[in-house]
Amino acid sequence: MKVKISIVFACIVIVTGMFYKYLKISEDEVIQNVANKNLIEIDIAYKSILDTYLLVAKKHFYDLGKNEKALELLFKFKYADAKDKPLIRGEFFRLLYRDYEVLTEYNIRQFHFHTHDAKSLLRFHLPYYSGDSLKDIRTSVRVANSEFKIMSGFEGGKVFPGYRYVFPIINKGEHLGSVEFSISFDGIERKLKTILPFEAHEIIMSKAVTYDKVFKDYRDFFVQSLFSKDYYLENSEISRVTEKVEDNPLVNRLSLLAKESKNFDKKLQQKKSFSIPVTVQNRGYVVTFMAFKDIDGIDAGYIVSYAKLQEIVEIQNRYKNIMFAGFFIAALLFALIIIILFQIKENQEYTLKLKKFIDIQDSIVILTDGKKFKFANKKFFDFLQYADIDDFLSKHSCICDLFIYNENFFSLANVKAGEKNWVESLLNLSGRNRIVSMLDKTSMPHAFTVSINKYDKVDYIINFSDISDAMSEKLQLQKQISRDQLTKAYNRVYFEKNIDLLMAHNASEKRGTGVIFFDIDFFKDVNDTYGHKVGDDILVTIVDIVKKNIRIGEQLIRWGGEEFLIILPANSIDEIYKEAEKLRKIIEKHDFEIVHKLTCSFGVTLHEEHTSINESIIKADEKLYEAKKSGRNRVVFSFT
Ligand code: GH3
Ligand code: MG
Ligand code: MG
Repeated sequence: MKVKISIVFACIVIVTGMFYKYLKISEDEVIQNVANKNLIEIDIAYKSILDTYLLVAKKHFYDLGKNEKALELLFKFKYADAKDKPLIRGEFFRLLYRDYEVLTEYNIRQFHFHTHDAKSLLRFHLPYYSGDSLKDIRTSVRVANSEFKIMSGFEGGKVFPGYRYVFPIINKGEHLGSVEFSISFDGIERKLKTILPFEAHEIIMSKAVTYDKVFKDYRDFFVQSLFSKDYYLENSEISRVTEKVEDNPLVNRLSLLAKESKNFDKKLQQKKSFSIPVTVQNRGYVVTFMAFKDIDGIDAGYIVSYAKLQEIVEIQNRYKNIMFAGFFIAALLFALIIIILFQIKENQEYTLKLKKFIDIQDSIVILTDGKKFKFANKKFFDFLQYADIDDFLSKHSCICDLFIYNENFFSLANVKAGEKNWVESLLNLSGRNRIVSMLDKTSMPHAFTVSINKYDKVDYIINFSDISDAMSEKLQLQKQISRDQLTKAYNRVYFEKNIDLLMAHNASEKRGTGVIFFDIDFFKDVNDTYGHKVGDDILVTIVDIVKKNIRIGEQLIRWGGEEFLIILPANSIDEIYKEAEKLRKIIEKHDFEIVHKLTCSFGVTLHEEHTSINESIIKADEKLYEAKKSGRNRVVFSFT
């Protein structure tokens, strides 16, 4: 029992575990899908903001194209001697300084002119620093001045990284250099915040486009990102965004949770956009990392956004409920199986007790539907000395086979036409007439009262109580008359006492009576060759074989010596012939101990109503004689 419970428990734990695992995976997937929606929104907003700034930059570039004075100064600068260049640069600065102030209001942080050979001409945001070559460090400047293309995109720089818009300046066929408008992430964030009012947006940039790229003196502008040492952001003194993020405890908590999330470092290293759902005090948030590339197509960093996403908590709650229901069902199932197991055990114990109870009964108890024999108690097997029910069924089909034909007792001869079986026939009798007689293993006749109870729809439970003591007188008589001592076949006395009853029973079923007379061939030789004992054993074997192969209602009688008579219900000589022929073949095929092969000769006849049964027996005997004469091991019949 303990083992069974353990197995059930283990199975339920395994199935529940698998269910839990499946739910957890499914929950993570659903939440991740919801979280990823934010990435799409940010991507769209980001691209549209960059496009808007391109328009602003273009507008200023076209204004510049109409500024004759500025173009003249640039032309002069291109061909001036080195000593004159600072003067021209000064004049240029004063000319456009107001424009720069206007640009800063549009979040444009850098307004930068470059020479035709890609050197810095004038940085409005850092006017005293110029003349350095940008050819090798600024793709946008190099391409704008060599291929005369408008360049835009994120790019590192000597002072600040930023989103660049670089336009080549060509006036009347003369290439004068290029101009750059550049916005910081602060500018982008301001717009992002109006389109997507999340908790915060910040940028982390790769070390290559920040710390490694700027003038050494400007490295202090950058601080390492808490997400990874490979990423930097502008410090809080120069970036309002950084300042805001540093001062926001919720954002700090969210970024810490994101960093501690599963496989975070791996995801960051893949340089692809991803999002991390987190919960803080039963509130849902998502931290998205939108990857972006620089103007050279190299991964340059992530725009990190922090947004509320209550749906996460709702999904978690939904799954919690499913899991709870799952665990509840599993527990219930476990309890149910345990109850059933105990019930089965109880039933088994009860059945065993019941069987024991029936076995210790002093009377024979059997279960039958009137035809099939289904159960018998120990007393039954003890009385008849059969090993088990199969052993009994190999010799008889019904306990009713064993009921002795006698006027004092019920037997198959008393079953009337129209009665379904012997049980129904017994039920039709009054209680005190329900008495049968059977021989025990020592061939001692016993008398039983029979009580019948309905067990279920088809079966009866039938009880045989031994009342031999009370009927000893009648039984004593029967003992003498009923059977032959050697073979246990009925004897001639039995025949005399019962033949009228048998024939009446056949007639009641609209059947005639057949006679089969048979005799063992050359039996004397058996006795002479092997001795009398072997002969006796053969007689017993033949009786057993014949008894097993005749039908209910057929009676085997040892007529004398090695001659036997079978009285059977029959309507035609053909039926009787077939029955005799069947028995002849069975005996012929049987392998007898010691002698091995043996045959019998048969004479058969159908009894005629107006004659006596003895006449029919004589007729059968005559036919047997004919069979002997004509070669033995055959059946001869008489036409009547
Ligand atoms: P067949 O019938 O084929 O003409 O030849 P048979 O040798 O069988 O001849 P018969 O019927 O005349 O012989 C009967 C023999 O059966 C005689 C007797 O020794 C033997 N016999 C009769 N009763 C018993 C018995 O109870 N036990 C033994 N061992 N033999 C018996
Ligand atoms: Mg004989
Ligand atoms: Mg013989």
